[in-house]
Amino acid sequence: MRYSAFGILKQGLTGNKGWKPVWREPEPKKSYDYIIVGGGGHGLATAHYLAKVYGGKNIAVLEKGWIGSGNIGRNTTIVRSNYGLEGNQPFYEMSLKLWEGLEQDLNYNAMMSQRGILNLAHSDGQRDAYAKRGNAMLMSGADAELLDRAAIQKMCPFLNFDNERFPIKAGLLQRRAGTARHDAVAWGYARSADLHGVDIIQNCEVTGFQMKNGKCLGVQTSKGMIKAKKTAVCVAGASSRVMEKAGMRLPIESHVLQAFVSEGLKPTIPGVITYGAGHFYVSQSDKGGLVFGGDLDGYNSYAQRGNLPVVEDVCSGGMSIMPMIGRARLLRMWGGVMDMSMDGSPFIDKTGIEGLYFNGGWCYGGFKATPASGYCYAHLLATDTSHENASQMRLDRFIRGNMIDEKGVGAQPNLH
Ligand SMILES: Cc1cc2nc3c(=O)[nH]c(=O)nc-3n(C[C@H](O)[C@H](O)[C@H](O)COP(=O)(O)OP(=O)(O)OC[C@H]3O[C@@H](n4cnc5c(N)ncnc54)[C@H](O)[C@@H]3O)c2cc1C
Repeated sequence: MRYSAFGILKQGLTGNKGWKPVWREPEPKKSYDYIIVGGGGHGLATAHYLAKVYGGKNIAVLEKGWIGSGNIGRNTTIVRSNYGLEGNQPFYEMSLKLWEGLEQDLNYNAMMSQRGILNLAHSDGQRDAYAKRGNAMLMSGADAELLDRAAIQKMCPFLNFDNERFPIKAGLLQRRAGTARHDAVAWGYARSADLHGVDIIQNCEVTGFQMKNGKCLGVQTSKGMIKAKKTAVCVAGASSRVMEKAGMRLPIESHVLQAFVSEGLKPTIPGVITYGAGHFYVSQSDKGGLVFGGDLDGYNSYAQRGNLPVVEDVCSGGMSIMPMIGRARLLRMWGGVMDMSMDGSPFIDKTGIEGLYFNGGWCYGGFKATPASGYCYAHLLATDTSHENASQMRLDRFIRGNMIDEKGVGAQPNLH
């Protein structure tokens, strides 16, 4: 069923009785050519591009819970490509370009809204670092503008410009960045993958791998054994636990990150704003709620709930740059478990086990990466070679000393 304005009008006039389920609920087959473990944004995007772009057939996505139950439905929806390093920038710019055409590609409203992201600088050193990052972005074809204080004052007069310790000195603006509705992205990819013949199997947990002579022949699941020529793991915060079942120990820790939404307010914030002297980022949803977040909870956990000290820390970050936020009531908050690699960058790679592939380590940057991650993982699965934009996202980069340490803080999770 193709969605259109005419279709919505017709359904509206006929009692909305003609809508069909967005994807099928098939029983798993005994074997597939490709099994994708994890029906989050990355797994569903992989299935979509594998079937649509690379002509893959006989594909299943196995999801432990329901579509949208993981981080794809828990994030603060920010998409951007304002990275500086060679191993990252072309990849995230590819992703942003895919975001720009995503709704047409999926025939689904993902509420992509390119309202810009502004990173605030609070010292001369930080302004120089942003100028450097902006130049790197421009060199790889992305957009970037360095704003002075006056330009920011015009755009966001409500910010606290003269904070005694952290005055606003400048800002790096990427106008093409913005937000997209997180769970709609999962539903849109799921619908399109299903239309291309992919079996999406919910409530199907992968509990082990079937191995023979160093090869992965399929997976054990809560719905029985399923064989596969290629098995692609893509389970975000559960990466270490799932890959452990294949005997692999990953350079990954799992952490909780929380998100917050205020009561609905009149339109105030033009785009996404980030605080450079603490960790705080905020945007405003179409319903008017301020959507914001900050640091990780600071300890390893698999529980999808957060702790109170981080609530205080995030809210005090918000108060530093926009004191008016103190008048808004917090409506809801939640946590998600994310996989953080030791240089903060992700993996899209083959493993040492034939037939087994791994995608993970996205931490709190994985939503914006969803389209490119799916595309590059599909490329790897279909061709057994890395996509040029993901060629540095290798599992062996720590042994080879080729880390992609965007923030320069390496293996210090507390600083991310
Ligand atoms: C609070 C919060 C805010 C964030 N904000 C942003 C942001 O603003 N911008 C941004 O770019 N990123 C953000 N992120 C990060 C982003 O959401 C994640 O990096 C990204 O969603 C991870 O990929 P995914 O969508 O595939 O993960 P998920 O949706 O978590 O998908 C993984 C799936 O694997 C399934 N699974 C796990 N184990 C098994 C198993 N054994 N068998 C079968 N299935 C299994 C899970 O149920 C889950 O559905 C945020 C994350 C959080 C938690």
